[in-house]
Amino acid sequence: MSGIGGKVIALTGASSGIGEATAVHLAERGAHVVLGARRKDRLEAVVERITASGGSARGVVVDVTSRDDLARLVGAALEGFGRLDVLVSNAGTMAVSPFDDLRQDDWDAMVATHITGLLNGIGAALPVFRRQRSGQFVNVASTAAYVVKSPQAVYAATKTAVKVLTEGLRQESGPDLRVTLVSPGFTNTEGVGKGGSPEAAAELARQRDEIAMPPSAIASAIAYAIEQPEGIDVSEIVVRPTVQA
Ligand code: NDP
Repeated sequence: MSGIGGKVIALTGASSGIGEATAVHLAERGAHVVLGARRKDRLEAVVERITASGGSARGVVVDVTSRDDLARLVGAALEGFGRLDVLVSNAGTMAVSPFDDLRQDDWDAMVATHITGLLNGIGAALPVFRRQRSGQFVNVASTAAYVVKSPQAVYAATKTAVKVLTEGLRQESGPDLRVTLVSPGFTNTEGVGKGGSPEAAAELARQRDEIAMPPSAIASAIAYAIEQPEGIDVSEIVVRPTVQA
């Protein structure tokens, strides 16, 4: 199936920010969207927003660090719509801090969310895509996967892992599957400046207010990768505000 209309698209991290904007955009283009995140109230609000304007959406409370939860997300797509065409692995947390702060719980959360979470998504969706002989992974990394800036090394390392895992998956995917890496630069979401050390969070929030682009810029990039004809794989997209170094 080409284009976006009629596709069944599951997204993690769809309760706010880039995931929410992408879900709304894809639903407006006629996709059936299956939204995963931990905050039930926020998920329900996004589902309501989409369905109120005639779109097709359902929400599943999902913690991506749980294999079972990812299996439930993919299962909801199969139960609701009979197939899964795209999994957008977007859930993330920007809990940045200097090493000396020893915020080891934040380090663990970024490793678990970005690396284990991505692998859980691959584990849940790959057998479905193989069975269908079609499917697309869209994995959200960051410009931090290309340039390391202090004090973001742990965040950057986990996003670099997303980039590496995506490229390896692409090489093994064969002719039936598509694998896309989307790397946003500064994007205006509630996730920027939330978590991590207070000083680092405040600095990120300051930069966000100065230079960030709207999440719709990333939603459009993801839609572009999905709407290509079968057999065309947009492997990598980096989107940043022009003022970002
Ligand atoms: P938000 O904080 O708005 O969104 C993050 C989303 O991830 C939320 O929906 C959150 O939902 C979800 N999430 C976090 N942890 C988990 C988890 N363990 N299980 C399930 N869902 C989870 O921030 P953004 O929209 O900015 O972030 C989206 C992605 O974009 C992230 O991967 C981020 O690293 C990446 N990115 C963002 C940039 C930016 O400048 N904004 C720049 C580069 C990359 P809930 O809390 O309800 O679970």
